[in-house]
Amino acid sequence: MTIEQVTVIGGGILGSQIAYQTAFKGLKVVLYDINDEAMKAAKQHIKLLKADYQRDLKITDGAFEQGLEQLSYSTDLADAVKNADLVIEAIPEKIAIKQSFYESLAKVAPAKTIFASNSSTLLPSQLKDFTGRPKQYLHIHFANQIWIRNTAEVMGSPETDPEVFNQAVAFAKTIGMVPIPLKKEQPRYVLNTMLIPWLNAALILWAKGVAEPATIDKTWMIDLGVAVGPFAVLDVIGMKTHYNIVVTEAEATDNDDLRLVAKKMKERIDANKLGPTTGEGFYHW
Ligand code: NAD
Repeated sequence: MTIEQVTVIGGGILGSQIAYQTAFKGLKVVLYDINDEAMKAAKQHIKLLKADYQRDLKITDGAFEQGLEQLSYSTDLADAVKNADLVIEAIPEKIAIKQSFYESLAKVAPAKTIFASNSSTLLPSQLKDFTGRPKQYLHIHFANQIWIRNTAEVMGSPETDPEVFNQAVAFAKTIGMVPIPLKKEQPRYVLNTMLIPWLNAALILWAKGVAEPATIDKTWMIDLGVAVGPFAVLDVIGMKTHYNIVVTEAEATDNDDLRLVAKKMKERIDANKLGPTTGEGFYHW
């Protein structure tokens, strides 16, 4: 089966991007959200993507409109998924919310439909049994700013049918992604398995007073011959996003260095030094 009709669940930050990118690449997309208010916000997210696509991809108004024509909206789950070859779920990262959603979806989706989650922190094994179809369930993890940060990490559980996995990889290519197939389950996929310890190592150097952020970045940039260091990356990710990861990890691993990092990050958050959105993070923007 070639994936032609896609339903995206949740029109928040990532769901709106996944829905529009899929439509922009010519597939039929239905965007589902829970109520009219959430749908209004989802439509607003999509409207705002026009400036991003035009800035980064230099597309015309007409090209953006063509994408919109492929996209429809529904707040009725059964109606939203009735023709779906693939459902991509991008709802809040809470296991109870995802469980209840997949149990409802399982009752109304056609037998052929593949289910994929965009979850950042959960493994397919943690959700597969709620879907009623573990062979047709896997994760496709997109990055924020999908139109330029275009990797799609594809990760199945041990029960995922290899054919379904291959269809997800092919779908990712069709919508302009570079597929990153994972051969087994890995918490945080490929990117964040590398990125988070790297950021934390840099933050610990700073929090313990070993060196200034700019000095740490300079070391990395000169000696690896790359354009950015960890603190510039942290500013772009946003202070609050990484702070939440640090707090969770400090407790989960009982790590005093990370507790110190969390304390120092909180001081900067309280001073509104959040990154480019507030004009200052570790750097002035
Ligand atoms: P968000 O809070 O911006 O959006 C969530 C959307 O889900 C909202 O539109 C909300 O109305 C809707 N929703 C809430 N409850 C629902 C339900 N029961 N059924 C259907 N829809 C419901 O969240 P987000 O940042 O887009 O994250 C969504 C998922 O994508 C999470 O699993 C997250 O881990 C993952 N993700 C996020 C990012 C990111 O940078 N934000 C990156 C990669 C992956």
